[in-house]
Amino acid sequence: MPRQLNNRTILCYCAEMSFVAQLAGVPVAELARHAQTVSSERVRKSLLQSQLSLRDFAGLLSAAAGEELEKLARRSQALTQKRFGKVVRLFAPLYVSNECINTCRYCGFSRENPILRLTLERNEVLGEAQALRKKGFRNLLVVAGEHPKFVSPGYLAGCVGQLHPLFPSISLEVGPMETEEYRQIVKAGAEGLVVYQETYDRRTYEQMHPVGPKRDFDWRLETPERAYTAGFRRIGIGALYGLADWRSEALSVAAHAEYLLRNCWKAQVTISLPRLRPCAGEFQPLTHMTDRELVQLVCAFRLMFPDVGLVLSTREPAKLRDGLFPLGITLISAGSHTEPGGYTGAGKENIHQTVRGRIVEAGASEWATPINGHATNATGQFNIADERSADEVAKLIQRLGYEPVWKDWDAALTT
Ligand code: SF4
Repeated sequence: MPRQLNNRTILCYCAEMSFVAQLAGVPVAELARHAQTVSSERVRKSLLQSQLSLRDFAGLLSAAAGEELEKLARRSQALTQKRFGKVVRLFAPLYVSNECINTCRYCGFSRENPILRLTLERNEVLGEAQALRKKGFRNLLVVAGEHPKFVSPGYLAGCVGQLHPLFPSISLEVGPMETEEYRQIVKAGAEGLVVYQETYDRRTYEQMHPVGPKRDFDWRLETPERAYTAGFRRIGIGALYGLADWRSEALSVAAHAEYLLRNCWKAQVTISLPRLRPCAGEFQPLTHMTDRELVQLVCAFRLMFPDVGLVLSTREPAKLRDGLFPLGITLISAGSHTEPGGYTGAGKENIHQTVRGRIVEAGASEWATPINGHATNATGQFNIADERSADEVAKLIQRLGYEPVWKDWDAALTT
């Protein structure tokens, strides 16, 4: 049934009311307090259960559970192997544009940052994709800032259409759109949509997003439901850790995932766990999450959601990633560039700065990304921490006794 929220008409697509309405009823603060006071005994009981409630999950995020980390890790590892086998899937992000009309205080692409910007032509997108295919990738994440003038639904559908014959699995991480706009992208061959809420804390969200369409918290929160209605069969969600209390964020992500698993049940749900990295603008994280807490969170998500894919990007350093692969992570990026044209140097001649939506000639920018060889000088979204090539990461996965998987499925059965 249509309803009005923040001057937008929002449709309720699922059997239950939208998660926008449900989030208000999730007792996040009470559960976060529970995470501070829960006993070790209660945590151990949760560890024996095969199905966990949100309250059990809160217990797994506690300091008491942190002391049982080895136990948590063993259970998480065993459960992951049972449900997914000893495999880790690889994907590559393909940044097609770093134009953006939003101010997100923590992001290098934020509109007021005087960075060097670029939107790749479709043939350049194809060139970048072919370079990634040569490295072995068959699973792509097409990424762009939010700028309807440069990155329209038609542009993205065109990109996906030409990539689809080369890549059986294409997902997008782009500005939220209307259902009908998503439909044309699904029709072109995309199967997944990733949208991080960034923070589920409304006040922090408001402070972090002062300008641009992204200010609308509800519109963003309802994006996975619109994506599902449009036909995407993989839905990725997550919070950006470093903006609000990590336990509260994780509880909201878990509530969101529970909702999607109940209501958008034909789709596969994945959860990403990005922590803030240095970027243009030099924003400093507002909250801290230690490496050990990240490990604990991966295990807690795995125990709560045995069948949900857990995603780890190159934001994390190599050593930590190597330790996390066997514990519950099922999908990783590798050999990544976060600047458009980063894999081949495509589009170098079109690099510019953008002032109020108008292209102006590029001046000097301290945020250029000069990379040896052939990369462009467009600015990346954030600094990569794991700089190993995809091949090196794949070999490491093999050494750990796992199989690196470059693609999930073929368009047709092979005999
Ligand atoms: S996080 Fe996304 S919307 Fe915000 S500035 Fe960066 S690219 Fe734009």
